[in-house]
Amino acid sequence: MPCKSCGSVNQRKFSAEMAIHFPGLKNIDTSVVWVFPEVVVCLDCGTAEFAVPEAELRQLAKGDAAAA
Ligand SMILES: [Zn+2]
Repeated sequence: MPCKSCGSVNQRKFSAEMAIHFPGLKNIDTSVVWVFPEVVVCLDCGTAEFAVPEAELRQLAKGDAAAA
């Protein structure tokens, strides 16, 4: 599938680890959510794409509700 941003097919899959932070000062003590996704990077424009797994997705939704 070509890059959604520039249409290039020069893309590559990588494995990544990512700590997702809730933004804002009010969330300074909220734990980060770790995800270990497979990331597809466009080697022409730098656009990266990944999906958050379901369990971590629930954590993100819950964490935001707790902070609100
Ligand atoms: Zn691109």
